[in-house]
Amino acid sequence: MYDISDLAGRSIECDCGHGHEVLIKHIEVESGAIDNLPDVCRKLFTGGNALLIADDNTYKAAGAKVYKTLTNHGFDADICMLKRPSVEYGADEMPASQPGIASPWEPADAIATDERSIVRIMVALKPDISFLLAVGSGTINDLVRFVSSRTGIPYVSIPTAPSVDGYASTVVPLLMDGFKRTVPGTYPAAIIADTDVLCNAPSSMIAAGFGDMVGKLTALLDWKLSHILDGEYLCQTSFDMMNSAVQKCLSDPSGIRQRKPDAIKALMEGLILSGVAMMLVGNSRPASGSEHHMAHYWEMKFSQKGLEQPYHGAKVGIATPVIASVYKKLMDMDEAQIKAMADAYTPISPSVRRQRIADAFGPLTDEVIAESSSVWLSEDAQKQRAQHIAARWPAIRDALRSSVLDPEEIKHLLASAGAAYSAEYINVDAGLLHQTLLNAMYIRTRYTILRLADDIGCLEGLAGEVIG
Ligand SMILES: [Zn+2]
Ligand SMILES: [Zn+2]
Repeated sequence: MYDISDLAGRSIECDCGHGHEVLIKHIEVESGAIDNLPDVCRKLFTGGNALLIADDNTYKAAGAKVYKTLTNHGFDADICMLKRPSVEYGADEMPASQPGIASPWEPADAIATDERSIVRIMVALKPDISFLLAVGSGTINDLVRFVSSRTGIPYVSIPTAPSVDGYASTVVPLLMDGFKRTVPGTYPAAIIADTDVLCNAPSSMIAAGFGDMVGKLTALLDWKLSHILDGEYLCQTSFDMMNSAVQKCLSDPSGIRQRKPDAIKALMEGLILSGVAMMLVGNSRPASGSEHHMAHYWEMKFSQKGLEQPYHGAKVGIATPVIASVYKKLMDMDEAQIKAMADAYTPISPSVRRQRIADAFGPLTDEVIAESSSVWLSEDAQKQRAQHIAARWPAIRDALRSSVLDPEEIKHLLASAGAAYSAEYINVDAGLLHQTLLNAMYIRTRYTILRLADDIGCLEGLAGEVIG
């Protein structure tokens, strides 16, 4: 297991052929971590004027203590209070969707990562501010990461919930004119995660963070699959780091539901480490695969229909056992079965693909085709691809088979942690689930088990079997 505080600021020797550097200078996940904030800020920053960004609830949860601790130690701090969301920390925030399972839905009036929120922060930003403090969960960190990258003012991330893996991330999913796009941001100078605060986070946010971690199970399988099949770059150090963090998180799911400090600490460390792993390899491969593509597809569908959104991690958690079923069914097939499918493979013409995408994505069709068509193969190349997969099948199966968790076991882990574990929780019916399995692969060009199933012509059949 990697000690997260030792990783901060380090260069990592690695035999993958790439140099790795952890650009975050200080990472701490401890009880009472906020008490160390003055020392950390003194060490990292030259000036003593801070701008603290929070909302009403995250201010109560941690911001007030951050403010008091810093001002008691000679710092000056301004406060930028963003619009109040309905989520309340330390309260029984939302009716559970089922006894023991936290609600997967995001509050409808949560602050958005949009132009308005950015301007709110910019207006509060006086010229003499030397560092920013992002006190909150995903959204506040996304906003501050953006402002920090454009102003050059460094920031400290002070998470208030173990809900997302974006604390160590450098990209910002920004809503502009109502459309979501990913824009560059920057990493925090330090992450100070106080487990006393995190243990009091709303249960729906803790459950969402757990779902996002569960998703790494299939994300890592997809990464290894692509590495074995096509030689895609895989850094074993980052892979192992991610894998051991996932295993640690999954070792005590009921501890997550009971908010045991050790379990919440393992969850927060896992979420931060997944950001670090992405930083090391330079993309989101260690943390995101076909389960994320399914989650993105649902997000798209829900927002097209103007529906309420479940938490990102809730969607990812629900998608993971579905992808694990796809893996399990494929891993049960031997070389002869895959070879027979490859021999019988019928290529798909670009016009048929276009029509499928139009049926599935509606108004987003052009965008999706622009994203995915760069990896479409000619009809001859498709036949060769199917044969290539058949030839590599023994190696793929040997490498992955023992790592594929049983889908029921994954559902059980989610349920034990109090996290939503099946599509019904987010009103995804069998029809939409089927459509998702067939079309999620068009959202990104990243290679996954769904694309492999498509490449050997069994995606449709598998989707039918998985949904049953
Ligand atoms: Zn995620
Ligand atoms: Zn490496």
